Amino acid sequence: MNSIKRSVSVRRDIQAKARKVGEPIPAFRHKGLASLTLAAGIGAAVLAVAPGEAHADNTYTAKVYTDSLNVRSTAGPDTPVVGSLRSGDVVTVTDENLGWLKVENASTSGWVAGYYLKRENGSSASATVNTASTASRSAVTGSIAASSSVSTGAKALVTANSVIIRSGPGKSHDLLGSANRNDAVTVLDQQSGWSRIQTSYGAYGWISTKYLQGGGSATVKAAVQTQKAVNVSTAAAQSPKASTSDIQSGSLQGKLIVLDPGHGGNDPGTIGTTYGLVEQELNLQTAMYVRDYLVSRGARVEMTRTESGQRPSLASRAQLAPSLGADAFVSIHYNSALSASSNGTLVCFYSESKDLGLARAMEAPLKGGTGIRSNGLAFGNFKVIRENSVPAVLLEMGFLSNASDEATISSSDYQKNAAKAIADGLQLYFSN
Ligand SMILES: [Zn+2]
Repeated sequence: MNSIKRSVSVRRDIQAKARKVGEPIPAFRHKGLASLTLAAGIGAAVLAVAPGEAHADNTYTAKVYTDSLNVRSTAGPDTPVVGSLRSGDVVTVTDENLGWLKVENASTSGWVAGYYLKRENGSSASATVNTASTASRSAVTGSIAASSSVSTGAKALVTANSVIIRSGPGKSHDLLGSANRNDAVTVLDQQSGWSRIQTSYGAYGWISTKYLQGGGSATVKAAVQTQKAVNVSTAAAQSPKASTSDIQSGSLQGKLIVLDPGHGGNDPGTIGTTYGLVEQELNLQTAMYVRDYLVSRGARVEMTRTESGQRPSLASRAQLAPSLGADAFVSIHYNSALSASSNGTLVCFYSESKDLGLARAMEAPLKGGTGIRSNGLAFGNFKVIRENSVPAVLLEMGFLSNASDEATISSSDYQKNAAKAIADGLQLYFSN
């Protein structure tokens, strides 16, 4: 498409200009999930124009949040390891690519999984970016206007590079990965400008319909793209091991816990790629088991939803715990990645001062063994924990895009083991 070519040449101009004034080429950063970031370059220039979806930054500094983090030669989980970083190390981030960050400090440089870094406050500079955004916005408007409507059940082509695939129909949903120009997808459902798609390699997710072009199957090119793991499953973070002696019985007595089963209603979350498990239902089942364990140990429990058909807003989920004066908030999810090999659980926190203690306590029993391995802790910029004034975590209890994880998750034993681990984590937190 002409418009795509135009965006390419515009981007090259911008890069040339940026170099001329001695500025680094801006990387584009995704707002929804701070540690998951988008590729710099042409694709990201196209992507970054979605209104409110992304903004641009220069280099910034970030801190490492895991005891041992592999530094790799290129972005990706299976590339050669060239160094390592430790908890508390501060690095300069110079580039970003689908969840991977290019970093450097005095002792090493290379690519690391972005989940394990948190941006340091006030370290951004974005002065050079405005020109790029404006120029690429006009380039992209052309490609959007050229897209035709897409109908459900039809094959469609992706019209831009690095189009975000999300777990639900809207920008607030988890980022699962990306699709590239000329990727062939099947449109399964549509609502409010978003299309639920299946990729040619079987992954499911939602993308903005404006980046799809309907077309007969004759024009569909079966371009299977290299899978990009956004949900990184390397380098499990170290955290204190759960020991029953650490957990004082009775520490949950009288505590008020808010459980948030993610998604619901017309937002199913992610769908299992092997067995078709539906995330929103698993979230609810797991939360119900957690509630049972907590209540049996003397805690009080409120839930943001108790039925499959309910879909409270993210804002109301975030507000429930503070409005009740609750002691902790736990959002329960299951994960998905375009790479079928991504597996394991993850505990996401937002605030180091408010949430990290709870996150460490929650991860300890998960590490102790639920049938699915633990990927440790991660900084996660999720609204339900970000805009929540009580200690809050978001749990990803395994990957529905991984055949082994999904098989394990499908058993009620896992649901109960996981729920018990969550209750144990809360009890550990309140015993300290
Ligand atoms: Zn989810």
